[in-house]
Amino acid sequence: MFYVERNFMKFNDVGRSFSFVQMGVEMYIVLLGAPGSGKGTVGKIIAEDLKLAHISTGDLFRENLKNETELGKEAKKYMDKGELVPDEVTIKMLKSRLEENDVENGAVLDGFPRTEVQAKSLDEMLNGMGAKVDMALNIDVPFDEIVERIANRRSCKGCSEIYNVVFNPPKQEGICDKCGGELYQREDQKPEVVENRLKVYSKSAQELINHYENAGILYDAKAGDSVGKTSYDVAKEVEEYIKSK
Ligand SMILES: [Zn+2]
Repeated sequence: MFYVERNFMKFNDVGRSFSFVQMGVEMYIVLLGAPGSGKGTVGKIIAEDLKLAHISTGDLFRENLKNETELGKEAKKYMDKGELVPDEVTIKMLKSRLEENDVENGAVLDGFPRTEVQAKSLDEMLNGMGAKVDMALNIDVPFDEIVERIANRRSCKGCSEIYNVVFNPPKQEGICDKCGGELYQREDQKPEVVENRLKVYSKSAQELINHYENAGILYDAKAGDSVGKTSYDVAKEVEEYIKSK
């Protein structure tokens, strides 16, 4: 279903036989998952292994602003006023990014869509390019696990390095290994702030999940400590699934 034959060559006319078939995927994957679910990590592994471009909307905005593109300037007008950048601006950025060379096999999209309306505009845009979303990958980690995971983080005031007090503690408590700076819990690492963010997330996530489930392309990946799966395990599981299609 997702497989295409690439670089098919045969040299039989020079007295030797050589055939080379490289199998590659051609697909668009949309990542769903709460902040802190590890979806960014999963997406990067899959993109690298399957030779897909990894496109995060965060990076896309930063690049357009930094390079002062027309779309970047337009987005900045809204951002300067503290307003949300309209979907049509984001969609245009995404479209122009999808026209770049590294996207010839497709892409893993991280951070877009976030709402059902955005999902519909993405469907339309890809449709116009003769493509479609082939898979919506939902990284499903229990919320209490995410809260704990983030609450265990500490950031360095000096170099912004992030530690985990359980899994990746600094050599000396409260002190950064790299620069000796002071470690602290950022506002967005506090349990009540994370819980609130997850509540906001789950509202818009459900309509996205429904959208892709109705399209028959939702892949729900249970992840996290309670099921004993790291981001790497999940990525490999999804790759196996794609290859089996
Ligand atoms: Zn530091």
